Amino acid sequence: MIDKKGIVYILGAGPGDYGLLTLKAADCIRKADVIVYDRLINASIFSLAKKDAEYINVGKMPDHHAVPQETINQILLDKALEGRVVARVKGGDPFIFGRGGEEAEVLQKNGIEFEIVPGITSAVAAAAYAGIPVTHREYCSSLHIITGHEKPGRDESFIDYEVISKLEGTLVFLMGMKNLDEISTNLIKHGKKSTTPAAVIERGTTISQRVVVGTLEDISKKVIDEGIKSPAVTVIGNVVALSERLNWFPKGKLKGKRIVVTRAREQASSLVEEIRKLGGDVIEFPTIRIEEPLDYQHFDRVLRDLNTYKWVVFTSVNGVKGFFKRMRTLKIDIRSLAGIHIAAVGEATAMELSEVGLNVDYMPDDYTTKELLKGLVELMGKGEKVLLARADIASKELSEGLKSNDIDFEELTVYRTVMEASMKSTVEDYLKQNKVDFITFASSSTVKNFIEILGKENMELLSKTKIVCIGPVTSQTAKESGLFVSAVADKYTIDGLVDKLVELSEE
Ligand code: SAH
Repeated sequence: MIDKKGIVYILGAGPGDYGLLTLKAADCIRKADVIVYDRLINASIFSLAKKDAEYINVGKMPDHHAVPQETINQILLDKALEGRVVARVKGGDPFIFGRGGEEAEVLQKNGIEFEIVPGITSAVAAAAYAGIPVTHREYCSSLHIITGHEKPGRDESFIDYEVISKLEGTLVFLMGMKNLDEISTNLIKHGKKSTTPAAVIERGTTISQRVVVGTLEDISKKVIDEGIKSPAVTVIGNVVALSERLNWFPKGKLKGKRIVVTRAREQASSLVEEIRKLGGDVIEFPTIRIEEPLDYQHFDRVLRDLNTYKWVVFTSVNGVKGFFKRMRTLKIDIRSLAGIHIAAVGEATAMELSEVGLNVDYMPDDYTTKELLKGLVELMGKGEKVLLARADIASKELSEGLKSNDIDFEELTVYRTVMEASMKSTVEDYLKQNKVDFITFASSSTVKNFIEILGKENMELLSKTKIVCIGPVTSQTAKESGLFVSAVADKYTIDGLVDKLVELSEE
């Protein structure tokens, strides 16, 4: 018997732009055991979730209620009664045409604890991203949000065109694409001026945002000509005229680009941040997860005998993190590294070392195993021993090279890498719809894991997107795995990778 009752967070995830998720919503997603989500949710938010969160897509396609509301209600009840934390994730705000009210009522009736987390509604945000302030002292003094699609089967319309045509405030219609002609005709018929400015914003706040501006008279035709589809909001009123001057979005050198970033889940995500800063949309695809070694016997022995080594080699940030974390756990003082030389591959690795107060004695110019080996052979004296603090799946190239040069070494598994497939179906969907501009790879192991997770049968999907690698080794692995590599960064760093993405976007 489970006596613990769960909780349901009915939350709004905003209109699409990742940055418009509220801090509170982000918090709830982080806490959730189960994520019940709708269509139109930006998949990037899922990277906040726990690695073992359960995902339930109850997305309704237009005209096609994939999962009936009763079933959704039941799912929420069942999961909460199992004692789990449920995030019920909706687009925009949960109480603006989101049926959040109905769900809350069901939970309340059944004695389930719930919280409502408001979200930024598309009614306001899509307009803002099109440079339309929905209210403005000089233009209007009210805002009206109206459904353009009423409950099917209702005989009489809820929308009283007689009344709303007389409103001087801004009118915003949601779900109105199919009825746009009817809406505008009715408004004119009941007295709204046919010259009233009107705009339709498709996929507002996302990289695919499109805006069509016209008047009540011609907006419907313009929308058809441009092929605008749902989801879109229609804004009617004099404030729309400001759009011409105030439109500011999209901006940034990566605007309009959707980029899949493959990486380890725990990896510090400066790449993701940089891309977002430049206006691109990121889908994070963690291919591996970093886990602790299975046991610490060997690790602890090595740390207690650090004075046996003359060099320690770190090839990744995770290697550095894992190494010093264990030192802290064992309360081994940093001074036990006194006199030991440190080699690092990559600037990020060196930066991580500097965080613990260590300067690097050697870093190869070219971040490859070959260069590293060359340097070690040159720098290491006779009889000196080197410790390789790396992942369980680290390449054998370095150890074999050391062996053939008669250098004494010891391999230390600082962390393990485990396959992670949580984003597979999301990315598969985007690829199928041809909606991915770039896929980035920053290591050979991510290339291999990505292919394994996506599956050989899906390789064909990758031919329509550009693959960009951080350096020649990663690129070589990608090519050997049958991928077509579009570009390699000139500088083998995250910044170099971002520069390359910008360059390709400007082509
Ligand atoms: N709760 C949501 C609205 C759900 S109803 C909110 O507060 O935004 C679904 C309708 O919302 C769509 O038909 C469309 O009119 C609108 N919509 C949702 N996301 C949108 C977006 N990114 N751009 C434009 N319209 C959007």
